[in-house]
Amino acid sequence: MELEFEKTRRQHIIDLLQLKSWSVYELAKELDVEVNTVVNDLEHIKRSISFPYKMNIFPPECTNCGFKFKDRSKFTKPSRCPRCKGERIIPLMVKIDFVKSTKRQ
Ligand SMILES: [Zn+2]
Repeated sequence: MELEFEKTRRQHIIDLLQLKSWSVYELAKELDVEVNTVVNDLEHIKRSISFPYKMNIFPPECTNCGFKFKDRSKFTKPSRCPRCKGERIIPLMVKIDFVKSTKRQ
């Protein structure tokens, strides 16, 4: 069972994600909670979100060589780039879009 404050925080995250794309780090700062808490909330939202809403996930990217971590499913940031070993990585970003079409995607 979901606790009431969790439900409220998750709804807040869903509202924020409809405004723009966010990383877990930005969300944690905005909500003043631990990164792990946001990760758990996003996992929950990802499982429970349904049409006409869709969660869009933008993979982390290396600022040095442009490598995209396309296969990464974790919301947290990889520590270094497997291609150039660079450590400046743009974190994974999440956004929620409202799908206007009546067709399921
Ligand atoms: Zn790189």
